[in-house]
Amino acid sequence: MANGLTYQRTTTTPEATKQLAATLAPYLHAGDTIVLTGDLGAGKTQFVQGVAAALGVRAAVTSPTFNILLEYHDGRLPLYHYDLYRLDERWQLEDIDYYSAIDGDGDGAAFVEWAEKFPEDMPYDYLEIAITADGDGARRIVAHSFGSRSRQLLCVWANDSKSRLGKCQL
Ligand code: ADP
Ligand code: MG
Repeated sequence: MANGLTYQRTTTTPEATKQLAATLAPYLHAGDTIVLTGDLGAGKTQFVQGVAAALGVRAAVTSPTFNILLEYHDGRLPLYHYDLYRLDERWQLEDIDYYSAIDGDGDGAAFVEWAEKFPEDMPYDYLEIAITADGDGARRIVAHSFGSRSRQLLCVWANDSKSRLGKCQL
């Protein structure tokens, strides 16, 4: 998208990925959608764990690969964590309330792993977090905004995270 912003960082430990994710949490609003991309084991679920902890979720955040959707309602904002890896058919998205979670009017923040399996059902406005393994334990984390709300979210997050965590490329 022409007006999209990109923000990139590299982490070298799972804890650093969670810390980076935690800096996003204060800026999340109801209706925000975050799409996480990257191979199996890239660190998508680790990222969501960092967000969840910073939202005040006390329950253990595990991978929703088998459940498809795990919800957490005890944090500052409801958190909907989808993993579409095991879904094969578009119609199954209805059953898990996917469309209402990603249409921008939801009551919480939706984090989605493997959304790209369903290109026709991508959210209208979303922040993409692309995680790539880059050698031993290193992960390149590239955030890109698709749409005006996610652009605003990325701006405030990147500025805050930049000042707290050191240099970045905006
Ligand atoms: P995904 O959800 O992308 O399939 P997970 O988050 O479940 O992946 O797992 C990521 C794995 O990679 C974990 O075992 C984690 O300990 C490991 N890891 C190693 N280095 C990092 C890093 N820098 N950031 C995130 N995870 C890392
Ligand atoms: Mg995962």
